[in-house]
Amino acid sequence: MKATKDHCGVFGIFNVADAARLTYYGLHALQHRGQESCGIVSSTFDETKRRRVMPLRKDFGLVLDVYADSALFTDLLLGDAAIGHTRYSTSGSSTNRANIQPFRVQYKGGNLALAHNGNLSNARELRTAFSERGTLFQSSSDSELILHLIAQSRRKKQINQIVGALTQVEGAFALAILTDDSLIAVRDPGGFRPLALGRFETVTPGDEAAYCVASETCAFDLIGATYVRDIEPGEILVIDREGCRTGTFQSFRLSNQYRISPCIFEYVYFSRPDSRIFGEMVDKVRRKIGKQLAHEAPVPRVPAEQKLPIVISVPDSSNTATLGYVTECQKLSYRCRYEIGLIRNHYVGRTFIAPGQDRREMHVRCKFNTVDGLLKGRVVVVVDDSIVRGTTARLLVKMIREAGAREVHFRVTSPVVMNPCYYGMDFPSRGELLSAKFTDVVSIGKWLEVDSLAYLSVDGLMKAVRTANPNKHGYCNACFTGDYPVPIETGVTKEEND
Ligand code: AMP
Repeated sequence: MKATKDHCGVFGIFNVADAARLTYYGLHALQHRGQESCGIVSSTFDETKRRRVMPLRKDFGLVLDVYADSALFTDLLLGDAAIGHTRYSTSGSSTNRANIQPFRVQYKGGNLALAHNGNLSNARELRTAFSERGTLFQSSSDSELILHLIAQSRRKKQINQIVGALTQVEGAFALAILTDDSLIAVRDPGGFRPLALGRFETVTPGDEAAYCVASETCAFDLIGATYVRDIEPGEILVIDREGCRTGTFQSFRLSNQYRISPCIFEYVYFSRPDSRIFGEMVDKVRRKIGKQLAHEAPVPRVPAEQKLPIVISVPDSSNTATLGYVTECQKLSYRCRYEIGLIRNHYVGRTFIAPGQDRREMHVRCKFNTVDGLLKGRVVVVVDDSIVRGTTARLLVKMIREAGAREVHFRVTSPVVMNPCYYGMDFPSRGELLSAKFTDVVSIGKWLEVDSLAYLSVDGLMKAVRTANPNKHGYCNACFTGDYPVPIETGVTKEEND
């Protein structure tokens, strides 16, 4: 069985006219979490059918393209509640239209739609059990399993069906579920992926407030909603009309067999700096990470008569940490200056989209170019947030040398990525990771053809993140340490999980 592997953004809003249009804006803010496909489902009462319906529009492509026709919002996606999804996935699954989310079904309990960020770690076991009972699957996505578990529940009340279903899945799931009378927000007991609750004041005085949920709070900023709090790890929050009136919602808890472990890589790379996730601003955490790296691996010292080294970030994901790195290096009295030496083309997707090594290299060239005049003859320190396969780093070093840099030093604001992620972060199989090909950092540096290479230590990363956000639980750092908080099904290799 091949499960899909997803990077995703989810959004939901309840109790407001024009819910789908607000969701569209929310998805724009979450576009960085997935660029392959997107979808919106709304909920409205159909006068002809005399019942609620859930119109749906989803397709491959960016939010801007999929919803280019504004009539979609006046003629199709009607109603006062909606959920949306942006998705990235790889290989076979990326051509399977059936995997585009949100999923929408009609079952004995009414209409139901679901948007999922994360990966279930017991998907194979569940799918096998369902297949043996004759269940037919429409997609190869693990998210569909949740719908089957709900639909096949013997419980009477819908919320009990949903709670019962969610007790049977493991791994990472941040969900927005739309029912005929509620928006249900869920975070798995480990709290791997972020999900926040926001409040949207309607313009008409005296109207009830609307509530929204989003993977990242930058989506609230865009629509003018205010952050209320995070959905707690293991929480199932039911946003219904009564709750919007009173401001108090029913909340259920999933029991936690394992520890609470938000994904540290969200802070390192994935989330936007202008978002608050896991209760803290990404910008603040990322700066601290950069500062910590300055203590562990500052810029090289150069003689006073030489031009000072310039520090450049690999835009955009490394910008914030690089600022922290440079200011701290300067504070530690290392001569250096921040410069914008790499220019990113924003109209190509992420580098890992193109399969195959050559296409990956071409993709890096499409994505970045050097500002030659700036780099010529200089000692250049490049800061990137992570090295995964190493394609980006190696080619960037080559390009910076071609631009005439005298020395190229590489600094990484995270430790060596040693292990695949089974909880929703897109990393290749262990064999494809650069770390699998070398036994130490010096050999990696030689292959990258840098004058020096340094990664942040695991302890340094944990210290920096904890200083910025002293959550009492800790984080999942399995990609660096191999310490997986929720067991992975035996026999599942990353290749299979792809
Ligand atoms: P690579 O070329 O495979 O080493 O990719 C590393 C580059 O991709 C870095 O510049 C990162 O900012 C970015 N990156 C880090 N993690 C991921 C990920 N999970 N998926 C895609 N790109 C990533």
